[in-house]
Amino acid sequence: QVAAAPIMALDRVSKQFGPLKALDGLSFDIRSGEILGIAGPNGAGKSTLLNVCTGVLKPTSGALSFEGQAVAGLAAHHYCGLGIARTFQIPQIFSSMSVEENVATGALFGPTERLASGAIKDRVDEALAITGLASQRRQPAGQADLLTRKRIMLAAALATEPKLVFLDEPLSGLNGEEVDIFVALFRRLHSARGLTLVVVEHKVRALADLSDRILILNAGTLLCLDRPEAMLRDARVIDIYLGA
Ligand code: ADP
Ligand code: MG
Repeated sequence: QVAAAPIMALDRVSKQFGPLKALDGLSFDIRSGEILGIAGPNGAGKSTLLNVCTGVLKPTSGALSFEGQAVAGLAAHHYCGLGIARTFQIPQIFSSMSVEENVATGALFGPTERLASGAIKDRVDEALAITGLASQRRQPAGQADLLTRKRIMLAAALATEPKLVFLDEPLSGLNGEEVDIFVALFRRLHSARGLTLVVVEHKVRALADLSDRILILNAGTLLCLDRPEAMLRDARVIDIYLGA
């Protein structure tokens, strides 16, 4: 089996907040077309890692590349133009706008060469369809329930036409049935579009079910990176999750 080429590579990436090393010399590859799950205790550096990988934060040191191009230090909008998108743990939506207007704000940040003619409308229509929002497109986003708000935020990210999408705790606050709906949606995005997904998630069982590989972060360092079956048997992982 030949390893797939990395879509993003981190080489000894560190991020310090004052004396605190939130990320401490992290090196790993994100493989093109995979679903990579990221878990770890509170404060492990998961959100910081997503912020560094999407240009929200600059690493203090280390190298970050996307499709072979060095990107550490570029402004966040460049990341978006390259095909890197993200969603937040708390849905960031504009309450006074309709569902489709919210998704259209995403389309505006996509590749600029496709801003012309009907391209934006096409992107919005496609993002609404794949996230199951087409019938609600004219409804005010402010009245949407949590699952719908999460769909809107995901659709807005998809409307940027990304190749690589980072999701920060997309399942938080959802009940069992809603978790299944959202996991099925991620699978669909992955198989229909060949999207590379990086999913940070506390719900480790759902994450193991969804992911090709799982990375466990602990105190800003990589504890393990393996297939879910191997990860769930790893004594170090059992230690930090069960305190054994
Ligand atoms: P996780 O998402 O895994 O819970 P975070 O990445 O949010 O962890 O945080 C990692 C560590 O960095 C924590 O100790 C947190 O308090 C600290 N941290 C995160 N963001 C900042 C910031 N902007 N300023 C100072 N400290 C921060
Ligand atoms: Mg976090």
